[in-house]
Amino acid sequence: MRRRIIAGNWKLNMLREDAGRLAFAIREALGGGQLAADVVLCPPFTALEAVRAALEGSRISLGAQNLFWEASGAWTGEVAAEMIVDAGANYVIVGHSERRQHFGETNETVRRRLAAALRVGLIPILCVGETQDEREIGATRDIVERQILEALNGRTADEVRKMVIAYEPVWAIGTGKNATPYDANAVHKHVRAVLKGKFGDGVGDAVRVQYGGSVKPDNIGEFLAQSDIDGALVGGASLSADQFLPIVRAAL
Ligand code: PEP
Repeated sequence: MRRRIIAGNWKLNMLREDAGRLAFAIREALGGGQLAADVVLCPPFTALEAVRAALEGSRISLGAQNLFWEASGAWTGEVAAEMIVDAGANYVIVGHSERRQHFGETNETVRRRLAAALRVGLIPILCVGETQDEREIGATRDIVERQILEALNGRTADEVRKMVIAYEPVWAIGTGKNATPYDANAVHKHVRAVLKGKFGDGVGDAVRVQYGGSVKPDNIGEFLAQSDIDGALVGGASLSADQFLPIVRAAL
């Protein structure tokens, strides 16, 4: 049985004070006991410390939204995996479609980032998904397969087993449009089949695959009801406790 995972991607939002306040509100609402699912908050780099402090002693995890593959050196503006660990995070989003779209991220740069995350023990949340055009020509499975295999090139089964994959159709992110739960589940099954083919059945069955793309309190239930959807990567709705908490509670 895979443990569900709900992650909030705060993107380019939240100054430190608001970030700390939101994290604390989520923490208080979820209480101090065991949680039946993993919950991860991914603020911008500048708010990692504020959120870490707000979550200290809780069961909620901290994640970053990106990382660089080198550990140190002359790379102005970059943030290393080691620095993210040092900031108290244990997850990192890798290859989000906004980075692929706006910052020239390729499957090769995603591969390097992912390798760096695993090198330091961070759990990568690898984002994959097709654009509207790719969907229209029926290329969804091929695109997702290539994104996974190229990003995981060189990785071992033991490394991959620990990862999370987020299937996020690009046309559904921040648009209010969703894949139908049935269609999303079919892609999730394909993700598992790809992992099984490359790393073995045990890995394909173990890796948690989240859905992402305009997940809200009123649609999370139907996604979680699908056999191969193990949680959600939530953007817009993770920016308020009122929206995020019902999504988390649906997974508990
Ligand atoms: C995301 O940022 O990964 C995302 C899925 O955003 P939204 O929930 O706003 O569509």
